[in-house]
Amino acid sequence: MSIRYLYRSLPKSGRTCNYYRCQRPILRNIAKDKAGRLYHWGCLQTALDEQYRCLGCYSIFDATEAVLDEKQRTVGEGYKTILTLLCPHCGSQDLKPAQKHHSMPSGQTVHCM
Ligand SMILES: [Zn+2]
Ligand SMILES: [Zn+2]
Repeated sequence: MSIRYLYRSLPKSGRTCNYYRCQRPILRNIAKDKAGRLYHWGCLQTALDEQYRCLGCYSIFDATEAVLDEKQRTVGEGYKTILTLLCPHCGSQDLKPAQKHHSMPSGQTVHCM
């Protein structure tokens, strides 16, 4: 399904990449995740590959599912935005990068708790 119509129907300011490391306007290669949020195509692939395990409820999710907590902190003369990833299920900040099941070098299936 082509979502190129979004270039016409959304203003540039409404086309911000949702990948927390990017957050830039999307001028080309627009893509959507399953929740309907917008990404650069490349950012979406990176985000899907970025898996986290919550140490609070032990669920595993990727960077498109994580909840982003944005805080402004005063740094010298200006502000700095601090982004924290939160668990989408329990809201915990206690996250650990997790490996994807199929990318385990041993080829074993790992069962999550
Ligand atoms: Zn991006
Ligand atoms: Zn959790």
